[in-house]
Amino acid sequence: MKNSFYQIRIISILVLIISSIGILKAQVKYEVQLSDYSKIHVIAYMETSENRLYMPIQIPNDLPNGPASFVRNLNIHDQNGNVAILNAFNKEDFYEWHLENHEEKIVVEYDLLIEHYLYNRPFGLEEVANREEDGVMIIGKYLFIIPSWDEGNSNNVEFILPESWKVSTARTNNNSQMKFQRVKGIDLRENVIYIGEHKEETIKIGGVNLRVIIGASLEAKRETILYYLKPNMVAIRDLFGGTPRDYYLIVFNEGEIAGGAFNQSYSMLFEKPISDNSSVLWGHGMIHETFHLWNGRN
Ligand SMILES: [Zn+2]
Repeated sequence: MKNSFYQIRIISILVLIISSIGILKAQVKYEVQLSDYSKIHVIAYMETSENRLYMPIQIPNDLPNGPASFVRNLNIHDQNGNVAILNAFNKEDFYEWHLENHEEKIVVEYDLLIEHYLYNRPFGLEEVANREEDGVMIIGKYLFIIPSWDEGNSNNVEFILPESWKVSTARTNNNSQMKFQRVKGIDLRENVIYIGEHKEETIKIGGVNLRVIIGASLEAKRETILYYLKPNMVAIRDLFGGTPRDYYLIVFNEGEIAGGAFNQSYSMLFEKPISDNSSVLWGHGMIHETFHLWNGRN
């Protein structure tokens, strides 16, 4: 009896150790560095059981590889200094790098140019990436090269930025501003990230913490925009009888009117002039995008 008791204990300890190795194994750590708004430098520590790396493509007519075209100086090595051999493929919906000649644990290092605005797109820049006067707006999936489409809470991200810069995301308060831990793959990829010297305002409406960024060129119309946003939030919350998440991020910038909604965030462009009269246009767009925070992306 005693022996089998110890055997069971040993087996359960082994199971615990093995399963925690499984959890650790899936972890991906990204260091994201910026010193200006023209490019982002990324160092990622990961394991590639699939021997593949991925980045989704949203294709502008004149840029077949989409956002993957802006990846520069891609360098992949393992701890023994083996540099991975790379082949790259356009798979229509995503870009895929095939790796050879490395151990499972690798370091993936690259620059990402923020030059998306140079190309025409069927959907707006607000759904991809853009340089603004006060920062860089980018959707996670076009920033992070990933080792799998895994949806576990396996992503850790640290931002290394000049003093006085900040990062805005739909993160909860459990994560510090510069360090996000155990983020789900889908939440990492399908959300707006804003990095720079911008102003972020948190508006509490009911149980919701709404982080709002109003770009520098729209700043003079902040009150008008918020005047329309706040009652929208309340009306939609009341309609649904609650709010699915505690935190959201909303980004407004100037541009040809358009909007893109993500898991816990949306990004929208407004055409000037912003006034009560023109609210027929942008106000309608804003309700539409705000509604997406409840009903999902479709
Ligand atoms: Zn829509």
